[in-house]
Amino acid sequence: MALTVVGSIAFDSVRTPFGERERMLGGSAVHFALAASFFTDVCVVGPVGDDFGEEHLAVLSERGIATDDIEHVAGGKTFFWRGHYDHDMNVAHTDDTQLNVFADFQPKLSPESCGSQMLFLGNIQPELQRDVRRQSAASFAALDSMNLWIDTARDSLVAAIGEVECVLLNDAELRMLTEQPNLVHAARATMELGPEVIVAKRGEYGAALFTGEGMFAIPGLLIEDVRDPTGAGDSFAGGFLGYLDAVRIAGEHGERALRQAMAYGSVMASFNVEDFGTERVASLTEGEIAERLSEFKRLTHFEEAPIVR
Ligand code: AMP
Repeated sequence: MALTVVGSIAFDSVRTPFGERERMLGGSAVHFALAASFFTDVCVVGPVGDDFGEEHLAVLSERGIATDDIEHVAGGKTFFWRGHYDHDMNVAHTDDTQLNVFADFQPKLSPESCGSQMLFLGNIQPELQRDVRRQSAASFAALDSMNLWIDTARDSLVAAIGEVECVLLNDAELRMLTEQPNLVHAARATMELGPEVIVAKRGEYGAALFTGEGMFAIPGLLIEDVRDPTGAGDSFAGGFLGYLDAVRIAGEHGERALRQAMAYGSVMASFNVEDFGTERVASLTEGEIAERLSEFKRLTHFEEAPIVR
């Protein structure tokens, strides 16, 4: 398998100004895997409970995602998250988090998952992320997290960050983690913890990339119908790492590939927000992705011109 992801596999109840849905399939690993599956082979690691049915598993397997490392915990309940968004859809308000089967989860990666060259540690308890990182032989591991873990498990999170090559966090989370109000300083301070690549996700405003070689920033695609931003960050990560894994297999590395991966991340996130839950991304076509990438290039392209006066 090429790209392994561990993270929450969840049921999400979400309210936005555009509607409300109960117990949709969600979770960081699910949103990530669906987006990445357009680029490379993906394997999902994580536990689910008795309430997780064949129809939920099918959403993943229909996209060719390997589900053998999804562990069914008899008598347990699947992770549950309830949240809402007010007018600023960049800010998710958490109303309830029930770890359920994640509370006692001890990850056991199959030889196939351990052998992946790329690993994504989706948003989940940092000690679980560290456990998975220790088992994996990946040469490139990336990590996401959230304010809850910065608040409640800061030391573990800092240790986990020290064990990965790449960090993807919201700009506000980078500032909170490093206590640096300036994003450039916050990214550099995060790099000092270990990783060589930092991606600052900036919601509808796009994303910024920081490496040893410098910085790169792209805007968000301007989407007219944003209905539910839940999972946009994970879809971004899926497009970003999925593309990187595909070009790594083709022997392409470095800054150029990272910038292209930023564009694919933005494209996948832009589809995610158009509908509730996983619906839009799960039913996408490669043609739609290619078309939106071209649209994004037109949106961001300009020619350098001298001042004429
Ligand atoms: P995002 O891409 O940041 O919008 O992530 C959304 C997903 O994160 C939702 O599908 C939730 O199920 C999941 N989630 C929310 N809170 C947590 C948490 N504390 N740990 C793990 N996953 C979470």
